[in-house]
Amino acid sequence: MPMIALGHKSPDTDTVVSAIAASYILTKAGFPCEPGMQGEASAETKFVLSKFGLQVPEQITSVAGRELCIVDTANPMELPSDLAEAKIKFIFDHHALKGITTLEPFNGFFTTAGCTCTVLVMVARVYNVAIPANIAGAMALAIVSDTVMFKSPTTTDYDKHALLELAKTAGIDYEKVGMEMLREKSKLTGETAESLVHRDYKEFDMNGKKVAIAQLELIDATVADEFVPAIREYLQTHKEANKFHSVIFFITDIMKEGSHLYVYSDSDGKVAEIMGCDLNNNCAWVPGLMSRKKQVVPPLAEKL
Ligand code: MG
Ligand code: MG
Ligand code: MG
Repeated sequence: MPMIALGHKSPDTDTVVSAIAASYILTKAGFPCEPGMQGEASAETKFVLSKFGLQVPEQITSVAGRELCIVDTANPMELPSDLAEAKIKFIFDHHALKGITTLEPFNGFFTTAGCTCTVLVMVARVYNVAIPANIAGAMALAIVSDTVMFKSPTTTDYDKHALLELAKTAGIDYEKVGMEMLREKSKLTGETAESLVHRDYKEFDMNGKKVAIAQLELIDATVADEFVPAIREYLQTHKEANKFHSVIFFITDIMKEGSHLYVYSDSDGKVAEIMGCDLNNNCAWVPGLMSRKKQVVPPLAEKL
């Protein structure tokens, strides 16, 4: 059986495109691999896949007995529950290590880049594999998505170089197609409070405290205004029903370069202090807040 390339739950564009790109690179390098996905592709991801004629990866809920290439996460809580029964062969990622362990030596490529597809540009070079135009186009858009068109503080020079190279291979104007993609993800018709919270949702164990942190990125955050009362209600219910210490949700306004932060926590005050803001009715506007990975997870994991 071929290896599975698999990213995190609540898959974002980087996770899905990285699974596809990693499968292509590894297969060409002599390690037969197929992409998988946990959960539904978002409207943004569907836009990217259909734009470049790529197939939606198959749904994976179990990895027991399978060889695995993990992409875009190193957090066991974001992977199938039988992860311990899989053989981890590769990990390509740009997140902090959150307790992943392997039985045998493995191949790991990690950088502080803003996107796993940037890491995969380096991996392709290592294995001397040329990335085809359609996969390159999808990878370019994954970089636009993960770095929020370079506005996120996670952006590195690696991302900029990788994006230029991929856009050239794909023959696309990445700014034009990137804006088209961001507009696509900012359409909220047919969404519910629950679907919006779970669009980009992650759970963490922070010093024994169960914490959920979700983000919604929009070109203009006001399009979510009509959902906010239902979102508040959902966050509260979700916290109680699943016994979270904290449920944190932030709606990022890409153009204004900041986020509306919603905090439902056993220690609201402490979370606000750590995030350097004052909560009013569980909410604060935080200028410059764009990245969960860089600006929310590290301070909370350290101080909560
Ligand atoms: Mg991701
Ligand atoms: Mg990523
Ligand atoms: Mg993101």
